[in-house]
Amino acid sequence: MTFKEEIQRRRTFGIISHPDAGKTTLTEKLLLFGGAIHVAGAVKSNKIKKTATSDFMEIEKQRGISVATSVMGFNYNGYKVNILDTPGHQDFAEDTYRTLTAVDSVIIVIDGAKGVEAQTRKLMEVCRMRKTPVIVFINKLDRPGKDAFELLDEVEEELQIKVRPLAWPMGNGDQFKGVYNILEENLYLFSPNKQVLEDGIEISDINDPEIEEYVGKTSASSLREELELLEGVYPEFDKNEYLAGNLAPVFFGSALNNFGVRELLHAFLKIAPSPLPSKAEERVVDAYEDKFTGFVFKIHANMDPNHRNRLAFVKICSGHFKRNTNYLHIRQGKQMKFSSPTAFMAEKKSIIDEAFPGDIVGIPDSGNFKIGDTLTEGEILHYKGLPSFSPELFRYIENADPMKAKQLAKGVDQLMDEGVAQLFINQSNGRKIIGTVGVLQFEVIQHRLLHEYGASCRYEPINLYKACWITSDNKAELEDFKKRKTQYMAKDKHGRDVFLADSSYMLQMAQENFKDIRFYFTSEF
Ligand code: GDP
Repeated sequence: MTFKEEIQRRRTFGIISHPDAGKTTLTEKLLLFGGAIHVAGAVKSNKIKKTATSDFMEIEKQRGISVATSVMGFNYNGYKVNILDTPGHQDFAEDTYRTLTAVDSVIIVIDGAKGVEAQTRKLMEVCRMRKTPVIVFINKLDRPGKDAFELLDEVEEELQIKVRPLAWPMGNGDQFKGVYNILEENLYLFSPNKQVLEDGIEISDINDPEIEEYVGKTSASSLREELELLEGVYPEFDKNEYLAGNLAPVFFGSALNNFGVRELLHAFLKIAPSPLPSKAEERVVDAYEDKFTGFVFKIHANMDPNHRNRLAFVKICSGHFKRNTNYLHIRQGKQMKFSSPTAFMAEKKSIIDEAFPGDIVGIPDSGNFKIGDTLTEGEILHYKGLPSFSPELFRYIENADPMKAKQLAKGVDQLMDEGVAQLFINQSNGRKIIGTVGVLQFEVIQHRLLHEYGASCRYEPINLYKACWITSDNKAELEDFKKRKTQYMAKDKHGRDVFLADSSYMLQMAQENFKDIRFYFTSEF
């Protein structure tokens, strides 16, 4: 296979949903098709049901499982499919946002009874920002749910994207009879509790009277009517609009019953983009360029608490990645080579010799990498698009064991590199502040500091509304601002100025009174 063909056959994507919509179930069915797993139930849901009070074992389990399922690769019909897992729990939303920077497209799973839910809306915002092509899968049609036209309107309105059904359901719940595949002009009839991978009944002509035999007159004629109606309402599917992130094709099915999943997969392989160009600060890098480049989008601590090794997940953006080859670690300005890069194929993690754009390789790391680090063959490049979001919850972190101050500092430092939370240092009192997007992170940090670094910490409350990064071209005004707000000024890990507003009023006043200062709510600018 040529280099070009290797790239063209890759599909790297993420599945996103509100918790419980069926992301794990759909992932599992896709893996079954790819032969990557052989039994249902092999993919563990990596979600945490309980919130703040969840016990630590659960957090540990969650971490272990998500290492294993962070990336799932399989071959299918000549394609190389890479599914990137995204945590559904909102406290881990940052992790999901970052993962979305490493995918070329996304499948959004929506529960047909619940419609568009909060987390779906938030994740879609990130996709919209990045113009990521999205496909919508409306799931759980075997359950009583909303009307299909109503669901399409809801998706269009709530997710602010044009939609185009490429499949059409016949009823839902008890009345769910099947799905008509508009792309392939086939009707698949539904029979509940079918064995995984077994096909439905296939009818290739919509006017075939056999349809009446299977589903009855009423259902048959309403299917024909609805198809006619939707051909009138929705313009023909325009693949370029989809690729530009302006139009979401919609499929229907039931992941649990493995119904509509194969159609989804086939359509996905056909229309979803192969590895796209990646934006670096310096220039846009095409996947087909022959020199290797890539960036770290995720760092995962090893499950084994006795070994503080971590795994850095590198997304290959261009060129041919090879084992034991020198690459330039841009931030550290040094050459590094990797003797045991791993990939995740068919249930197991194994060492690989090479990888191509679109692939994700795991690199064992003892502390060299941070999220966002770029690797190249020598060119100075910095990949963009790994934002830190302004955190919403804050606590002072204090050392609870004077004998272990060093361990604590090291632990905090490394956990921040992993992107678990953000650290700010208050400039007036020198105290360390941890900022997170969810309460769970505080527990995770405390637990991991103890178990992985032997350090204990204590939190103290701090009343903050928002932390935002500030810059200005007007140096005098910036200095004046910093002087007046001394108590509220902090530095982030990179030494950038951060303003800690204790109320929305305070923030608003600051924005009004200091017109030359820009306030940022994500750290990428
Ligand atoms: P996730 O939180 O999005 O990963 O959701 P899961 O895949 O864990 O599914 C949540 C629940 O919905 C589980 O109990 C699944 O068995 C169930 N489920 C998933 N897909 C379907 C479906 O098509 N029909 C029905 N009735 N239940 C489903």
